[in-house]
Amino acid sequence: MLNLYLAPKHRNRPPDEAIEAIIDFLVEHDFVGDEVDGSFTPGIEACELFHTDMHEHLLPAELTFDALSVQTSDKPKFLPLAQPAAEFIGSTCKLCGDLLDEAPLEEALARLAYVPTSRFAYACPSCQSELSLKDIEFNQNTSVARFWIFIEGAATSRLRQSVLDHLGRLLGVELIVVPEVPDEREEDWVPAMSRKRGGVAWRR
Ligand SMILES: [Zn+2]
Repeated sequence: MLNLYLAPKHRNRPPDEAIEAIIDFLVEHDFVGDEVDGSFTPGIEACELFHTDMHEHLLPAELTFDALSVQTSDKPKFLPLAQPAAEFIGSTCKLCGDLLDEAPLEEALARLAYVPTSRFAYACPSCQSELSLKDIEFNQNTSVARFWIFIEGAATSRLRQSVLDHLGRLLGVELIVVPEVPDEREEDWVPAMSRKRGGVAWRR
């Protein structure tokens, strides 16, 4: 199981009407079901959110998610919000090409609970450069965003491109899928951290 953030490549926050429009789209097509406190249950067509290839590997009942919410934040946030630093191993320094170290990266990411993303600082152990987020070649999609669709407990990160494109058109931004491997070892801690570092669920 993965968490997914469907986020703009850059910091854009779409206008409120566009956010309402994507919620209408998700509801009308039964991708989502009931809403409780800004969080939606999967709808009867939830499996259609996922890429056609995945329908060969998983049953429609398995192609689902736990919850979907649309979230915004006043300040730009680094996504994924709550992934253990170990999952970023394989990321490299853009200046020297060397691999990042887990412990200092963990510390730098943890600081984002308190400091803006623009003040992210990681000292590369190889070339000694102070790296900002854009100086890191991450091993997966990441985003710095003030708006995202959060899909918790998704079967796979492979979503149907036509749905992503349509959501992007409604929002006026290009959306990318940022996967997050939840920290299974610290189940109680991660949601708390996620709340602190996270956005606010959009409510109508
Ligand atoms: Zn370096």
